[in-house]
Amino acid sequence: MKVAFIGLGIMGRPMAKHLVDGGHDLSLFDLAPIPHDLVSLGLVCCGSAEDAVRRSEVVIIMVPDTPNVETALFGAGGIAAGLSPGATVVDMSSISPIETKEFAKRVNALGCDYLDAPVSGGEVGAREASLTIMVGGPQLAFDRIKPLFDLMGKNVTLVGGNGDGQTTKVANQIIVALTIEAVGEALLFASKAGADPGKVREALMGGFASSRILEVHGKRMIDRNFEPGFRIELHQKDLNLALQGARGLGISLPNTALCQQLFNAASANGGAKWDHSGMVRALESLAGHEIAKKSD
Ligand code: NAD
Repeated sequence: MKVAFIGLGIMGRPMAKHLVDGGHDLSLFDLAPIPHDLVSLGLVCCGSAEDAVRRSEVVIIMVPDTPNVETALFGAGGIAAGLSPGATVVDMSSISPIETKEFAKRVNALGCDYLDAPVSGGEVGAREASLTIMVGGPQLAFDRIKPLFDLMGKNVTLVGGNGDGQTTKVANQIIVALTIEAVGEALLFASKAGADPGKVREALMGGFASSRILEVHGKRMIDRNFEPGFRIELHQKDLNLALQGARGLGISLPNTALCQQLFNAASANGGAKWDHSGMVRALESLAGHEIAKKSD
């Protein structure tokens, strides 16, 4: 397929590479310079999203936040200006489910299908093509794009109509934040009690408390590796979507609110760009104790 890929950051870059390896014909656009490894593949690097889209039947968007998607779609030189009827727009960024429904309507009015298809699995999942992809939109468009999803991910599910993919991603981010908090508290408790947190993590990995977050983020907390990964500022964006959504729905998400406050505290101490496992530093400052010291 001829595919325009818009947004080639931490996630977009390896995802685009898998599509090239799968034999697809890519045109690229990013506001920042295109990463060198993609340029060296001889791909078409375009001066605007509009230009990339004119060459393509499928458009994939992978940018940070709702306003970035709106600009990419409808800003000057944006995707909408280059779309031909029959094309499919696939937004794989994690953004507002409510605004997604509006974006889908505006794209549908141009004679094109829209899929919201946010992902989970992080940079590692993007590199290893093992992402979980949660899709909202029409079945026929999903079936058309499925071969592309299969090149980037392993667990690909059509959840429902437009917006439902993004709603699923918000639910995912609630679970991830609360689990990071739980792992942080548990390792902090163990360390302060005098146990080796590395051994505690190892012991727990076989039991009921085992999780991917204990494995990956727990290790980061012990190794003091807060290089992103997934930045705290992006997780704040996602919990904001959860908390705003909860207000609109008239429900309470007390532990989501607590985790957002801990992210805010980490961010206030210079952590906006730390990996989200860095939430533990907010817990550590409340406890006056660090889980581990960075070894040289
Ligand atoms: P990133 O900041 O590394 O990359 C985003 C890219 O989009 C940047 O290169 C930026 O220049 C570009 N961009 C921004 N606005 C643009 C526009 N209007 N037109 C063209 N390019 C534009 O972000 P990322 O980590 O790759 O995350 C992208 C999305 O994926 C976010 O919504 C994030 O929440 C989600 N996500 C990230 C991870 C992760 O681990 N990093 C995991 C799952 C989901």
